[in-house]
Amino acid sequence: MRLIEQSDTVRFAAALLLAAGCSPRRAGPAVEPPAALVSALASAREAYPELAAARVELREMRAEQFFFMAQPEWRHAFRRSGARTYRISYDPAVLADGPSAEALAGVMAHELGHILEYARLGGLGLADFGLRYLCVREFRIAHERDTDFEALVRGFGPGLAAYERWALGRLSGAALRVKRETYLSPEEIEAWVRDKSEAQAGG
Ligand SMILES: [Zn+2]
Repeated sequence: MRLIEQSDTVRFAAALLLAAGCSPRRAGPAVEPPAALVSALASAREAYPELAAARVELREMRAEQFFFMAQPEWRHAFRRSGARTYRISYDPAVLADGPSAEALAGVMAHELGHILEYARLGGLGLADFGLRYLCVREFRIAHERDTDFEALVRGFGPGLAAYERWALGRLSGAALRVKRETYLSPEEIEAWVRDKSEAQAGG
């Protein structure tokens, strides 16, 4: 039993270290989040009644490989979900020449999908999730695609497709390759939306 506890502690410590390693290293001082993101987050939150009481903060970061990221505040990991803060970090690149309001709501719906998953997990579950996300490519891809679907079923398909198209146009090299292999493409999203509306019209 003691061994199990120790190994859980080790895994959690490793997850914390890995999470810290992946955290934005050049996070600037706390700044007032831009109004466009605040309102995109508010409109996405309307579709997530399960998260009505969750504390979600917007935080600036510079990551270069991606534009948004959702994480729990790791030092709150062992608190019950309602007592944690969750963070959606954004690269300020999204403010200049940014995606449309609909696209921003679409990506916020995706990020809230991550937070919904975190809210279901306890501290050890979060640690285990963090490790698998970082270390197992297939797990990461399956999780990101599931999270895309979470946004789609909540009505954010057109917005998410617009966001993905915007992001694909701004990434290159390895970041573009990872984006393509990890997330639903705009075409896949639009096909899903079309199939769903045809099925509804037919039913
Ligand atoms: Zn994601």
